[in-house]
Amino acid sequence: MRVRKKPWADKYIDDHGDYIVTDPKNWLGKWQKRFANEQPLNVEVGIGKGRFIIETARANPNINYIGVELQTSVIATALRTFMEDPLPNIQFVLTDGANLDELFYENEIKKIFLNFSDPWPKKRHAKRRLTSPLFLKTYKHVLAADGDIEFKTDNRGLFEYTLVTMNNFPMKFDYVSLDLHKSPENETNIETEYEQKFSPKGPIYKLVAHFTD
Ligand code: SAM
Repeated sequence: MRVRKKPWADKYIDDHGDYIVTDPKNWLGKWQKRFANEQPLNVEVGIGKGRFIIETARANPNINYIGVELQTSVIATALRTFMEDPLPNIQFVLTDGANLDELFYENEIKKIFLNFSDPWPKKRHAKRRLTSPLFLKTYKHVLAADGDIEFKTDNRGLFEYTLVTMNNFPMKFDYVSLDLHKSPENETNIETEYEQKFSPKGPIYKLVAHFTD
């Protein structure tokens, strides 16, 4: 999903360098210095307008969160929302999630969230899906041995694809729901912007999975 360029975005990002990183390779091994407290690190790739990571960080002050987003105008919108009530346990990173293994050490991340990732339905674009084997390899490198991936989507095709690629990688599933909003786990579910928009139209799928070795 491409968003039209917002003229204010570049300057807004430049003006808020305490909360957003645009040169992430320079922060390899130093991420904890950007937070008020050194504590476990969770990452969301493709944060969109940021509702999920902001509300999740607010609910979990003992965890540090890094929100990764590829599009300048989108991350600037998330940052602007965040600045209305800043939290000490979030940092935003403007970059491609495909590079996570160049930004983090092995085992550095406890959890990776992927929410309503772009489905890239054409077969020739399959490598761009955030749950393709190439991305999974990157996640495996940076995830802690006891870490996991949480994935939500409204797109049945992408969910089925993800079940297959994760199973074949191999990964093991700790949780699978074909209708999250009708399951007991929904009580603690924090919705994303896409989830709010698309859940009235059909089920939300969710899985939690970990690498096996
Ligand atoms: N997670 C949000 C939500 O649920 O409301 C946004 C979903 S939107 C469909 C997908 C987002 O992922 C877009 O903002 C897009 O720019 C971002 N994205 C796609 N590929 C990415 C990548 N390789 N690295 C970082 N962000 C990516």
